[in-house]
Amino acid sequence: MTDLRGLALDELEHLLTSLGEPRYRAAQVAEWIFKHAVADFDAMTNLPKALRRRLATEYGLSSARPVGHLRSSIDGTEKLLLEFADGTQIEAVVLRDDGRATGCVSTQVGCRFGCTFCATGAMGFVRDLTAGEIVEEILALRRHLAPERLDNLVFMGMGEPFDNYDATLAAVKIANAPWGLGIGARRMTISTAGHVPGIRRLAGEGMQVNLAVSLNAPDQDSRARIMPIAKIYPLPLLLEAVREFTRATGRMVTFEYVLLEGVNDSPEAADRLGDLTQEVPCKVNLICYNSIEDAIYSAPPDDVVRRFLSRLRRCCPTVVRRMSRGSDIAAGCGQLCVRRDRT
Ligand code: SF4
Repeated sequence: MTDLRGLALDELEHLLTSLGEPRYRAAQVAEWIFKHAVADFDAMTNLPKALRRRLATEYGLSSARPVGHLRSSIDGTEKLLLEFADGTQIEAVVLRDDGRATGCVSTQVGCRFGCTFCATGAMGFVRDLTAGEIVEEILALRRHLAPERLDNLVFMGMGEPFDNYDATLAAVKIANAPWGLGIGARRMTISTAGHVPGIRRLAGEGMQVNLAVSLNAPDQDSRARIMPIAKIYPLPLLLEAVREFTRATGRMVTFEYVLLEGVNDSPEAADRLGDLTQEVPCKVNLICYNSIEDAIYSAPPDDVVRRFLSRLRRCCPTVVRRMSRGSDIAAGCGQLCVRRDRT
């Protein structure tokens, strides 16, 4: 059943005119679906009753039901457990910074890339989210936050966004459109573990969305040890794709670097990372590892982090140390997962 929540305005126009309706009905339906975020067709009171009935019979509207909620007592980070109609569950996170709320959005249930520091990777892959489900996830975050505003979006939750490229980009376009959720492209960031074809496709979209790359090691061998995706898309290939992206869009990328004690936190690693940042217009976010269940890693002590940071700053002035968020509710980077026994 086609989910209208995942359709762009021109697709809604095509669908409604094919049902014999005037073109303007599409804008009315879009307003109900995206602005008012209604859960059923009966609420669309300016549509003829017969059309509402037909839409309800032949089409769907995805819905995400909140079935769990945690709030960090440390920094106010919130984690929502959302359930879709088929019983599938995902986690979405609200991060707060300088009075702004950022939604951390999942694009898949589980993930097939198995980064060794990531709880989602340990789940394995369950399924892709549809575009409508991703849009509904963002709407669920908005509903949860209201009347507070959802300011920014990072597609950095469960899953690799470019492994579900079409649905993710369709959702990003709906989130950005004035007839959709009206969120500025520059307030959205897609974060990839290094999916080269996805980076290349995004470069050609002509959109102003931000790109973040989860780098985590400054050389191919150590990167491949902690991120198996590097065996498919080796570091030199990844850096070339990132350079292409910056050339095509004129935008800087963000490299995310999660510090793991004894793995990627040496002064030599800081120097190599510094060299690498000379090759690409970029900034670096340094993040301390958040421990997960059965973790094989730990976070480096604070003096090691500070030494790494100051060494890196000699080459890369645009490095920022990001504090771990929501670590007490397992909402931090790499901590999202849905236990199978919950479903
Ligand atoms: Fe997947 Fe991202 Fe976790 Fe790697 S870090 S396993 S790509 S969700």
